[in-house]
Amino acid sequence: MSRETAVHHGRLAIQAALFGTVMDLKKYFHMNSGAGKNSYASNSKIQGLIICKSQSVRREAAVEAYLGTDWPATMSVADLGCSSGPTALLEVEDIMEAIERECVELRRQPPEFNLLLNDLYGNDFNAVFRSLPEFYSRRPGKGLCFVTGVPGTFYGRLFAAKSLHLVCSSSSLHWLSQMPEELQQKEGSPAACVNKGKVFISAGSPPCVAEAYRKQFHRDFTTFLRCRAEEIVRGGLMVLAFMSRKNREAAMMEDLYIWELLADALNAMASEVC
Ligand code: SAH
Repeated sequence: MSRETAVHHGRLAIQAALFGTVMDLKKYFHMNSGAGKNSYASNSKIQGLIICKSQSVRREAAVEAYLGTDWPATMSVADLGCSSGPTALLEVEDIMEAIERECVELRRQPPEFNLLLNDLYGNDFNAVFRSLPEFYSRRPGKGLCFVTGVPGTFYGRLFAAKSLHLVCSSSSLHWLSQMPEELQQKEGSPAACVNKGKVFISAGSPPCVAEAYRKQFHRDFTTFLRCRAEEIVRGGLMVLAFMSRKNREAAMMEDLYIWELLADALNAMASEVC
């Protein structure tokens, strides 16, 4: 991406976040690519911890899906929102290991694996592909696995009907498909609810802001579930890992100060570009 294009996308994102204008997120949104200081690869320790914390649930589900789909000769596993960097292959690796271990116990030939890594169009799939020789070399003497990148939004169909045995996704489903309609300020129509200058549900946001985000999540998650219901075979399973908060109050998240800092930084940048 040229510097001009990056700056243009940055402006669109800042304007969309702060002023409620519409931006086609699936087209522009992505984590920082590469392996530099500011890349997702170098800044995904917390997400790595979340994957570790949910490891036992994922392993159990993997074995259950394998048994529940009658020991398929080829097992198709999709990771939705894989990103790039050290966490991109962690979940699928874990899943293969769990099933291969179970097969040793059952004295069965382990299945071959179809590993389908999904993320948005702008994701650094090249970095994931470059890490594959090392990934394969971590599996000496193990069965075959085939890795495919699947670009596109998980708020739509991504795979053929009844083609997946197991779906996993970690730290991804909190990303909504768009800013809630209710908060968008369309030309000529006064916005029903305003969260101007904020990029999150803050203590000072009117209650309709939290409600707008709740409704958007409900719409998105329903679409997500409908699509996966088409794609997953009977007996297949899904393991979704999210960060959550401990209380009902949306504006009382423990790490709210991070978002305050982010909003300040975006406001400062917006004042330069607008
Ligand atoms: N699972 C990885 C990455 C989490 S970051 C990990 O645990 O480290 C969240 C990822 O979800 C990002 O790479 C982002 O691009 C992706 N994402 C967000 N919205 C998406 C969508 N609608 N469809 C597919 N991927 C999406």
